[in-house]
Amino acid sequence: RVRVRFAPSPTGHLHIGGLRTAFLNYLFAKKHKGDFILRIEDTDQARFVADAQEKIYQSLQFYNLKPDEGPREGGKYGPYEQSKRLQFYHQAAHHLVESKHAYRCFCPEHRINLLRKNAEKRGEIPKYDRKCAALSEQDSRAMAANGENFVIRFKLDKQNVEFQDEVFGTVNQCIDESDPVLLKSDGFPTYHLANVVDDKHMEISHVIRGMEWLSSTGKHQVLYRAFNWTPPKFVHLSLIMRSATKKLSKRDKDAFVDYYTETLGVLPEAVLNLLIRNGSGIRDFDADHFYSLTEMIEQFDISTLGRRNLLLDSDVLHKYARMAFQAADFEALHSLIVKLLKKDGKCELPDKDYLRKIICFLKSKEEHFGLLSSLTNGEFNWFFSRPKSSKLLIDTNQDLDLHNVLSDLKKIDLLTTDSLENFARCHQLSLAKVMGIVRISLIGSKKGPPISELVEFFGMDECRQRFDTMIS
Ligand code: GLU
Repeated sequence: RVRVRFAPSPTGHLHIGGLRTAFLNYLFAKKHKGDFILRIEDTDQARFVADAQEKIYQSLQFYNLKPDEGPREGGKYGPYEQSKRLQFYHQAAHHLVESKHAYRCFCPEHRINLLRKNAEKRGEIPKYDRKCAALSEQDSRAMAANGENFVIRFKLDKQNVEFQDEVFGTVNQCIDESDPVLLKSDGFPTYHLANVVDDKHMEISHVIRGMEWLSSTGKHQVLYRAFNWTPPKFVHLSLIMRSATKKLSKRDKDAFVDYYTETLGVLPEAVLNLLIRNGSGIRDFDADHFYSLTEMIEQFDISTLGRRNLLLDSDVLHKYARMAFQAADFEALHSLIVKLLKKDGKCELPDKDYLRKIICFLKSKEEHFGLLSSLTNGEFNWFFSRPKSSKLLIDTNQDLDLHNVLSDLKKIDLLTTDSLENFARCHQLSLAKVMGIVRISLIGSKKGPPISELVEFFGMDECRQRFDTMIS
């Protein structure tokens, strides 16, 4: 049975690469009618961030990647937070001590630091000198029983490891490093131990994770061997890059999922389309097609995952944002827009019919619309609030008695090209000038939809209200 896991460390905001890992794990699980597991790797107490788990859940929910098992869902392989699984790691580490693959190390920190400094002075890679590996079993046990602080280290001999990766093929790694700590003196495991033990206990069939973990996989293979366990299959995912040569830095705002969802207001499936494009999971990928999540599940084919890095391209993102908006149904859009307006808090929440009207307008008249954020802080905030500032109006019409012109505009029965032409003639103004005044009064900007569309959208009463707002 296919069982895969997304195993984030709760250290803050979800990275776009993390979302891609979760997403591809999800697609693979669903494609093969398997299980998608969320495991929280929270063993690094120093990097713990309180609401990070909540954020991870929010993101998964937003993108519709629902775990089958996890801290909130439960499941028979739980608990699903590593900090609640310490006894498994203790058992496993002590098992390795008994089978002589690991040993207790009592060296105090200052000795380890000294070894490191000396090695660095000699220009060598720092390596623990295995002093404690030489302790007899009795001595080691007695010191532990005596309450002396210790860590458990894995005896990692210098060696070549070869393994198969579903994306990278046969991987050869030469391992020549210090005996890694498996269990720290505070009783918490390190990443390597916890990760391997959990993948085994949770019967993970495929480890699908970012390429940055490929270098640890050789070591994990050695650990699996020491335990006498069959390793899962490994699938390492290529990186998401800014450009062919530039990595996405942690300082880039578009490196994090919040930027897409909160700042831009891109619909979730648009981001998912962006992440899967470039032949990264779908055979004969059609770049002009907008894939629904169901289609992506049906068409997902892990053997098409390539080594080529994925480039973040904002034009492509915008293209998908537009397609996603067109494809989205009313209820989904409605709830997202309500959430956005509540968060923005600047206007009263309009009723559902008005929002339906807005959505219809945007879908039929504004093909370039895709970013919900422009409803509250951009081109389209006029849907929700009457333009107040008349500065632009005054600046562009200094030669006019605006009060008069606006009062007269209010008297027109229906604003049409004909009636405005007539109005311009009577007031000895150019049509362009009149149109400018009307547009700024209605939407606060010189650019926007044709006046006829605006009038149709607002109706004459609202148009008059907007002229009034400009006068006052
Ligand atoms: N906790 C690791 C991370 O934060 C998981 C790596 C893995 O999937 O093995 O990405």
